[in-house]
Amino acid sequence: MKLQVGIIGNSIKHTLSPLIQNIALNSHNIDAQYQVWDVSLVDLKNHINSLKGENVLGANVTIPYKEEVIPMLDSLSEVAKTIGAVNTIINHNGVLHGDNTDSDGFIKDITKRHNIKISGTKTLVLGAGGASKAIIYGLLKHQAKSVTIVNRTREKADIIVSKFQHLGLIKSTSFNLIELGNLDQFDLIINCTSFGMKHSSLEGKFPIPKNLINQCKIFYDLVYNPLITPIVQEVQNSGGVGINGLGMLIEQGAISFELWTGLKAPNELMFSAIK
Ligand code: NAP
Repeated sequence: MKLQVGIIGNSIKHTLSPLIQNIALNSHNIDAQYQVWDVSLVDLKNHINSLKGENVLGANVTIPYKEEVIPMLDSLSEVAKTIGAVNTIINHNGVLHGDNTDSDGFIKDITKRHNIKISGTKTLVLGAGGASKAIIYGLLKHQAKSVTIVNRTREKADIIVSKFQHLGLIKSTSFNLIELGNLDQFDLIINCTSFGMKHSSLEGKFPIPKNLINQCKIFYDLVYNPLITPIVQEVQNSGGVGINGLGMLIEQGAISFELWTGLKAPNELMFSAIK
């Protein structure tokens, strides 16, 4: 029986997930083809119910449904519950379980591939969307000394502060450089806005103060398409370390694969294929 697994989202024809997941499926000779399920909001519930089929392993969930799917699932992992977003659904014999692998995927990439220590670091997070919450959860769970959030819509950053303050030292501020203070105080800056992403409406514009980028030692940009993002380019031009989000994409996908199949994902094969 051919197994089914895929990614659920809207306007997702540019997703790279099929490439990495099909490599993982083939490496274990699993008879399945990872599919792109571009569904409208009205069809979402039906599509989620169809994941209960006996030949379905589960699904990834992406923009804009990571929060919408939550009430449609039977159970949630602790991390998905705390973050309030699901990027992986696992079908356990007709019972749908929601998880979130973005946080662990980011932590694995930054600490293992790039050897960057989180514990004790002062971090600045740009953006307050779904990805930002997963990153902040990971930073605080791994004992970052502090997290400062800046977002165009300040209220959204404030909501995250109240949601996560039980986990560690967290505050929000504005893009105003006076409020941000001495930029040297940050060991690590992470871009969780969609700025620089190919085909996004923000492509080409630069909503982040350039001196924020120029003075930063390590800048992790969640964007990975193009591989040299405008931020990574700017950081490298000024002698800093600029990292794109490709490694996180691989790691979060590898964890999803392991949750669906119980098998070890071929991380390095997936990484080199996509590069
Ligand atoms: P999202 O929930 O839509 O959040 C988008 C964020 O970008 C918000 O903070 C938003 O600010 C900000 N933003 C949008 N337009 C802006 C503008 N013109 N000026 C300043 N800020 C602006 O998206 P998401 O799911 O968090 O994803 C964010 C990025 O991370 C995307 O590029 C996505 O591809 C990437 N991502 C990568 C990985 C990976 O594995 N590498 C995983 C997940 C996500 P407002 O709140 O003010 O609207």
